[in-house]
Amino acid sequence: MEEKPTKHTQENTPVSHGSARNIIFDKYEMGKLLGQGTFAKVYHGRNLRTSESVAIKVINKDQVKKEGLMEQITREIAVMRLVRHPHVVEIKEVMATKQKIYFVMEYIKGGELFAKVARGRLKEDAARKYFQQLISAVDFCHSRGVSHRDLKPENLLLDENENLKVSDFGLSALPEHHRNDGLLHTQCGTPAYVAPEVLRKKGYDGAKSDIWSCGVILYVLLAGYLPFQDENLMKMYSKVFKSEFEFPPWFSKRITIPGIMKNPWFCKGFNRPIAFSISEPANETPFEQEDEAQRKELELKRSKSSPPFYNAFAFISSMSSGFDLSNLFENRTRSGSLFTSKYSASAIMSKLEALAKKTNFKMVFHKDFKVRMQGASEGRKGKLSVTAEVFEVAPEVAVVEFSKTAGDTLEYRKFCEEDVRPALQDIVWSWQGENSVSGTET
Ligand code: ATP
Ligand code: MG
Repeated sequence: MEEKPTKHTQENTPVSHGSARNIIFDKYEMGKLLGQGTFAKVYHGRNLRTSESVAIKVINKDQVKKEGLMEQITREIAVMRLVRHPHVVEIKEVMATKQKIYFVMEYIKGGELFAKVARGRLKEDAARKYFQQLISAVDFCHSRGVSHRDLKPENLLLDENENLKVSDFGLSALPEHHRNDGLLHTQCGTPAYVAPEVLRKKGYDGAKSDIWSCGVILYVLLAGYLPFQDENLMKMYSKVFKSEFEFPPWFSKRITIPGIMKNPWFCKGFNRPIAFSISEPANETPFEQEDEAQRKELELKRSKSSPPFYNAFAFISSMSSGFDLSNLFENRTRSGSLFTSKYSASAIMSKLEALAKKTNFKMVFHKDFKVRMQGASEGRKGKLSVTAEVFEVAPEVAVVEFSKTAGDTLEYRKFCEEDVRPALQDIVWSWQGENSVSGTET
């Protein structure tokens, strides 16, 4: 057992003992042992001047010298002392005697994240929060050229507000070897969290292997156990090499297609082919109805383009079945209502704009032949939002579909009855489900 740093006979001894207190460098009082790792012991400490709590990590110098790593440690510690990140344990001071190095760090009260996982897997939201904090810390240190190389739940501490603090950044290089190729060569870290290239001992990139460890940590937080686990160490290594692991059934998601399409690797050189679709929402352009210039421009654009075209045959057959167009609008909202019109699509669009203005609805979305308008007042279920889309059925016949996008259904019906119908009555040929087509012609 290594002794607590109490008695030193060298001339530069940091320890003075007044009334059995262990005081080092006349500055810190050493307290109880907090924990012990592979190379170091960590003690609670107190700054005598400020009374601030600190954690003091004590490492035997021999160990470091043996590995010939003084230079790297000095460099990384220098970097870590200069930077501050909310999720990285701050190194306040580094002091040394002939035999020992003392790292004075901020004291993190809440213990190891490991203790939490040991009690069982975390809820997804909690795991996500810790993972986000971990990634932000790792990114920050990598950006300063410092990799961790020993990321594992034991090095993830929690502060009193349940926020994550990564410890040992810049310290885990201690048992490492750098050869001339700049890659790390000594295996380090807990095998279960270690990247395959680290296990292969052929040299690795510290930052990349950190990312592997982050993935294993996320798995552990969500699963409550390790992805690669075996009583036999060689078998465990073999699982790591083969990436042999399974997701437990409660892992929430397989990536979605939109998720894939947002991925930068996928996006490189990808041009989404235009598929023919009548209800493709395309880029939603916000539209301020007050903006006259914009409205004019849209009108012009409209006059040059044409609305989605409906298969006339389908239209006619729907007329013969009592003008039930609903089968043409599969997958659409039930609260929708349709009318036919003999006006041009752009004339209908102008009417819809006028309707929005009159009812004090705001145009929140405006495409050539599709608009979405939102009520000014809060309804029972928030603001009512209504979408209207114009489809061309035949050169002189258009179908207009109204549907509720958000808000309360009763308020929507009332809006249709009291506002939409009267405002549009002179362009409506027939509302779906009412009379015959010829009956309501104006
Ligand atoms: P390794 O040697 O691989 O890093 P380890 O993380 O378990 O393993 P140490 O880094 O020596 O070992 O730390 C020992 C323990 O001391 C930690 O696990 C943690 O519980 C505690 N500890 C370390 N730093 C702090 C800190 N800043 N504040 C509070 N407790 C700490
Ligand atoms: Mg540690």
